[in-house]
Amino acid sequence: MTRETKYFPVFLDLRGAAVLVAGAGKVAERKIGKLLAHGATVTVVAGEFSAPVRRIAERGEVRGIHAPFRPEYLDGMDLAFAATSDPSTNRLVAREARRRRIPVNVADVPEECTFILPATVHGEGFTVAVSTGGKNPGAARAIREFLEGSKEEIAVRFERGRRRREARPPKGKVYIVGAGPGNPDLLTVRALGLLRGADAVIHDYLVPGEILSLASPKAARICFARRGRTSGHGSSLKQAAIHAAMARFAREGKSVVRLKSGDPLVFGRGGEEAEYLAAEGIPFEIVPGITAAAGCAAAAGIPMTHRYFSSSVTFLAGHEADGKGGTEIDWKRLPADGTIAVYMGVGRVEGLARDLMEKANLPADTPVAVVENGTLRTQRVLRGRLAGLSRLVIEAGVRSPALLFVGKTAACALAGHSGKENIEERTDGPVAESL
Ligand code: SAH
Repeated sequence: MTRETKYFPVFLDLRGAAVLVAGAGKVAERKIGKLLAHGATVTVVAGEFSAPVRRIAERGEVRGIHAPFRPEYLDGMDLAFAATSDPSTNRLVAREARRRRIPVNVADVPEECTFILPATVHGEGFTVAVSTGGKNPGAARAIREFLEGSKEEIAVRFERGRRRREARPPKGKVYIVGAGPGNPDLLTVRALGLLRGADAVIHDYLVPGEILSLASPKAARICFARRGRTSGHGSSLKQAAIHAAMARFAREGKSVVRLKSGDPLVFGRGGEEAEYLAAEGIPFEIVPGITAAAGCAAAAGIPMTHRYFSSSVTFLAGHEADGKGGTEIDWKRLPADGTIAVYMGVGRVEGLARDLMEKANLPADTPVAVVENGTLRTQRVLRGRLAGLSRLVIEAGVRSPALLFVGKTAACALAGHSGKENIEERTDGPVAESL
């Protein structure tokens, strides 16, 4: 048995139901308004009518009986409300209604009620009714206020559910989906819906189990580990295997989610995969995600652009700077006044810092920030100067995935961001004065 056994929650269809309201004052007026809004046929009985109730009766919206309550008025009623200002009349209404087995509510006297009215919250497409069994109206109100404040979130959840039902994705299609920087809360609504409906999920090693567990339990899961350097023959073999797996599932008529960390079009080979699918005539769609730079910037309180300190953001692939197979970086053209967000830079941090100082001519005291495992519980943020970047990273034992921010904005640590309590902050000397 649950703790709440006295009241059985129901939603009544009152359209066309005969409802008696005894009383015609303020309380009755409120009840009449709601009853009419729900399509009930209302009879009001009272010796005296307040002006608003009288007008309602005059307009013919309710039947008005100008007389003291008498039990026979209950005959043929489906529901009764006692809302007079006289407790003994209310008691009489309740007793007579019970005798006739008509559900009855007495305003503010739960003991005399056979049903009570919950606190309600109406949102787009839903109604929530809250009850504490009449024992704690304050708490019911608090819950209602809480729900009122969460309407937007409830609406989003509703929308998710609707999409899942309606848009169970057409078969035989590949969705190249960004999973965001790792925290499941940062998935898009669309990504979540597609994961739930997927027949197969093909993902990278960076996508955490917590996100994968949101996929349908029936979905096949394939992980293509691609740690470390991705250039060379081994990597193109792996890429070919990914292409083949996507094509095979799609041709079997399956809904395939190709799940990538961050955004699929930022250092994710999403472009290559889309080109392959287009060439093979396989339907596909690209679903964006929050890229690591955006996730890490928000989590560490670093504004990537800033009216005074940065007018551009550059996403830089740290590991491709060695000229062995990757795109060569044109160091001279890196904007001097912007924020540089370096992906995959940890393994080559020393050479990277040197290139930034020597080839890109960035001052040795340019602020840097390192965000390891950004947006995850294990997030760490380290701050320092470009000249000390490599030491900072090595001494702290920073490991992939980590994002390096270089530029004046890297010294910012906007207060009030969530998760700050989990962030280990280290600084390599004072940095704030550069701002
Ligand atoms: N498509 C991804 C990037 C993939 S490349 C995106 O848009 O974010 C992998 C690199 O992304 C890692 O080497 C690291 O530099 C960065 N990265 C991904 N997740 C990260 C995280 N949670 N914290 C810090 N860096 C992250």
